[in-house]
Amino acid sequence: MALTEFGLIDRFFAGQPLINACSRLGIGDDCALIEVPDGCELAVTTDTMVENVHFFSDADPECLGHKLLAVNLSDLASMGARPCAATLALTLPSVDAAWLEGFSSGFIHLARRFSVDLIGGDTTSGALVLTVQAMGLVPKDMALRRASARVGDLVYITGDLGDAGLGLKVAQGLVSDAPEAVLQRLHRPEPRVAAGLTLRNLASACIDVSDGLVSDLGHLLRASGVGASIDWDRLPFSRAVADYITRTGDWQMPLTAGDDYELCFTIPPERENLLQERLHSLHCTCRKIGCIEVSQGLRVTKAGREVQITVPGFEHFTMAAR
Ligand SMILES: [Mg+2]
Repeated sequence: MALTEFGLIDRFFAGQPLINACSRLGIGDDCALIEVPDGCELAVTTDTMVENVHFFSDADPECLGHKLLAVNLSDLASMGARPCAATLALTLPSVDAAWLEGFSSGFIHLARRFSVDLIGGDTTSGALVLTVQAMGLVPKDMALRRASARVGDLVYITGDLGDAGLGLKVAQGLVSDAPEAVLQRLHRPEPRVAAGLTLRNLASACIDVSDGLVSDLGHLLRASGVGASIDWDRLPFSRAVADYITRTGDWQMPLTAGDDYELCFTIPPERENLLQERLHSLHCTCRKIGCIEVSQGLRVTKAGREVQITVPGFEHFTMAAR
């Protein structure tokens, strides 16, 4: 039996109880209503995933549901915002109940884990395009921005770099002897929400690494009007990525591959002790990788010598012709 748009929304997405006090009205009216508490600002972000640009046609729908929300929560995390609500817009070539079941399950499971209310959305027919708008709350004037790194600040990164990039190589059939965990990092990224909340009072600037460290740290540096040096030998790698680099010599991959969704942040040196004291509340590791400098641009040293990055970061639509 064909599902109508309303049947589709009801069957897979409606009926979730609203859990945040700020969600005043959810799915079912012309708009949702959000009450922003006194002293807070609403952080809003949108991310779209397009078939054959951001994911392969045979991608697991449950992973897609997870990842679509996760990449939006990662943007909220990078601003130090606490996620509260999301809207979902689906453009679907056909109504495939099994696909929607998997997709909604991945989406809703992650939404519950991070207390995100699904408060509205839209469905249309067309080529497969998935869009989420996510909203979060942050105390007024406390949001972490890109533009506030200062000369002398230290550059830190959460977690490990390059796992998702290695996972992509496995998915493309370019690498065969990597553990399953790297595919998990590619398909089911974990947004660093707890780290973002902890960094509110600590970091001077922050960005999430979606398009590769060189690219995203570059955005932060340009926005702040500063430069930086990072030490390749300090970069945090999983065993799988370290083994891959040893085997192939491809030391640039973890600097330029996308989809890691770690947080890259800067911190004044005098707050480093405070960061150490609060490490447990980051819920992930973090590593100092460099420092902010006056001279514009990003310099990378490896074994004490400056090296040139020759591989560009991920840019949207460059994969479209595949
Ligand atoms: Mg971002």
